[in-house]
Amino acid sequence: MQILRGYHDAAARRGVRFDFGVEVLGLRADGDRVAALRTSRGDVEGEHFLNAAGAWAATFGLDVAVTPLRRRVAPTILTEALPESMPMTIWTDDGYHVRVRDGRVLLLWPDPAPAGFDTSIDDAWLARVRAFTDARVPSLRGVPIDREQCWAGLYEMSPDKHAIVGRAPRFANAWLANGSSGHGVMHAPAIGQIVAEMIAGAPASIDVRALRPERFAEGAAESSFTLL
Ligand SMILES: Cc1cc2nc3c(=O)[nH]c(=O)nc-3n(C[C@H](O)[C@H](O)[C@H](O)COP(=O)(O)OP(=O)(O)OC[C@H]3O[C@@H](n4cnc5c(N)ncnc54)[C@H](O)[C@@H]3O)c2cc1C
Repeated sequence: MQILRGYHDAAARRGVRFDFGVEVLGLRADGDRVAALRTSRGDVEGEHFLNAAGAWAATFGLDVAVTPLRRRVAPTILTEALPESMPMTIWTDDGYHVRVRDGRVLLLWPDPAPAGFDTSIDDAWLARVRAFTDARVPSLRGVPIDREQCWAGLYEMSPDKHAIVGRAPRFANAWLANGSSGHGVMHAPAIGQIVAEMIAGAPASIDVRALRPERFAEGAAESSFTLL
């Protein structure tokens, strides 16, 4: 959240206006241009439009190959069972991993989630996480999971698990910064800079043609890594 606040405050200092609580409902197209966004507070016209809607990128009228994938987090109670200096540790066979954060240990097991926007936590998942933890991290045996602190979020999955960055197919003035597939916090600064350059027509500081939205239709997408 501090990273997010940093982006927000820096952008606000440069004159960006944030309208929180406004829902984009759809688009008003005019030929090959987006003329306006239809929102819960009326139409918003503009010269350029950028879709940065995470797991919801495909829900309001731009053709974006993004689907939601639930990922759940089970924090322990406050504990010193593992040191803050312990690196995030991943069991690469099934993606179970532990991170120490703010005096708790975050336990994550990326189960094969159903498609959709459901972010519920259920007892069966918690029981599996408990069993994995007891078997794999002996020092956490007897350290309870804090049920009230459990949460779930949605990865924004693209078909090849790589970001989708560039001009939206069909539109001359709509841009996509989508599909980072669960590693978008790390990508965010670079994607922000690249998309700003694209919209401004400035030379690209990084070659991201491999991330072009058209690659799926062209049959040029490749997937080469295991998702956690
Ligand atoms: C459990 C978990 C752990 C993760 N760990 C890491 C990690 O260690 N490292 C890492 O790099 N990434 C991690 N990620 C992934 C990371 O959170 C995402 O890749 C990143 O948040 C994507 O950023 P984004 O800006 O594209 O989308 P989001 O952060 O999802 O932001 C999209 C925004 O668009 C808004 N929105 C959507 N639809 C509409 C609409 N119709 N109208 C108005 N607003 C709308 C949403 O409210 C939201 O604020 C993790 C994700 C989860 C769930």
